[in-house]
Amino acid sequence: MTPPKTLAEIAANLQGYDPQALPVHDVLSFLSQLATPVTSLEDVPIFEALNRVVGVDVISPVNVPPHDNSAMDGYAFKGEQLQNQEALTLTVVGTALAGKAWQGSVKSNECVKIMTGAIMPAGLDTVVPQELCKIAADSVVIPASLLRAGDNRRLCGEDLKLNSAALTKGTQITPAAMGLLASLGLPKVKVFKRLKVAYFSTGDEILSLGEMPREGAVYDSNRYTVFGLLHKLGCEMLDMGVVQDDPVLLEQAFTKAAQGADAVITSGGVSVGEADFTKAMMKKLGDVVFWKIAMRPGRPMAVGKLTQGDRSAVLFGLPGNPVAVMVTFLAFVKPALLQMMGVTDAQRPMVRAKTQEVLRKKPGRTEYQRGIATRNLEGELQVITTGNQGSGVLSSMVQANCLIVLSHTQSTAQIGDWVDVLML
Ligand code: AMP
Ligand code: MG
Repeated sequence: MTPPKTLAEIAANLQGYDPQALPVHDVLSFLSQLATPVTSLEDVPIFEALNRVVGVDVISPVNVPPHDNSAMDGYAFKGEQLQNQEALTLTVVGTALAGKAWQGSVKSNECVKIMTGAIMPAGLDTVVPQELCKIAADSVVIPASLLRAGDNRRLCGEDLKLNSAALTKGTQITPAAMGLLASLGLPKVKVFKRLKVAYFSTGDEILSLGEMPREGAVYDSNRYTVFGLLHKLGCEMLDMGVVQDDPVLLEQAFTKAAQGADAVITSGGVSVGEADFTKAMMKKLGDVVFWKIAMRPGRPMAVGKLTQGDRSAVLFGLPGNPVAVMVTFLAFVKPALLQMMGVTDAQRPMVRAKTQEVLRKKPGRTEYQRGIATRNLEGELQVITTGNQGSGVLSSMVQANCLIVLSHTQSTAQIGDWVDVLML
């Protein structure tokens, strides 16, 4: 394994790197070089595997399904008889139930009543669904030109072949993947160790829930937003509360976070001219850069590595404004954390929507506006903003179902223009 790069090495890889006006794409490529995936693995039972990341390719020990079987309740017969497209009358010689193989041989002009999932009797390859045929006491009539040979039969191994990769390394486990693992008869799966993320809010004006309101103070909302965002990703979380703007308390908090976590997320205290100790403490305890990102909202951000003994944790120092916290998390922290969790393809496609209002925009920065996307009568995606786009207006994030992403080079979008949208 190549040793992790220093921030200076990463910066040197970016052409025209300017921490005072860093375009969003440079932030993303910087972070993708900083975010080193976890390497330790563990076995977990399937019920605990949701959102975990597959650590080693899962090789199928069986064919799924293990036999050719019927996809319908109906009658199984030899499909070659369908060649001349005439109605067929077949004598029913037995019943094949799901769960046990039907023994016996079947001639042409004969069929076996069969249930969904039952193994296809030897020599039979086609099933007529019961609702498509006329059923008499011991025979069925299949109308002409309804079926082709092989219809309504599931082939052995059509879902997964023996010894093929059922799930590949780096896949985040979804409910469907949980079911797939179970269908292979595997009670456990090898996954990357859970990423541990510590987070705290900073600022003297920030109140914890339960504290008495006081003039000029606001309740801490960022920790709750960050908790929800991390929870959805499937990280292990270390909640460190609100840390006042005090060098001793900040040093304790950063030290503890760096000792116990793979990543540390803070909010507040990274703005320009901030009269506080947060930035100073980040600098003291690690290799940290302070950016002004060419974006709105979320301009100031600190990024780096906090080192404690032989451990280091990636630091994401987010701005304080509640909307800026969410936008910078979704745009930058989330893809970086997914990469650290071992996920190999974390890209989420943007979609295009027609704007229903003029979106004022200056080229030279990326803007993330809170939007509500709906379908118009033509079936096209259309979008309006939630109104006030102030970076403190958290209710705009609650109303929004998407972020309208206006790219770095783009200027004002007129009504009817297509714009990029990231669905939330
Ligand atoms: P800062 O980045 O520290 O200058 O904070 C910018 C704005 O965000 C200020 O109005 C802060 O009061 C507000 N803010 C900072 N941290 C939080 C928080 N944890 N919860 C809610 N608002 C916050
Ligand atoms: Mg502050």
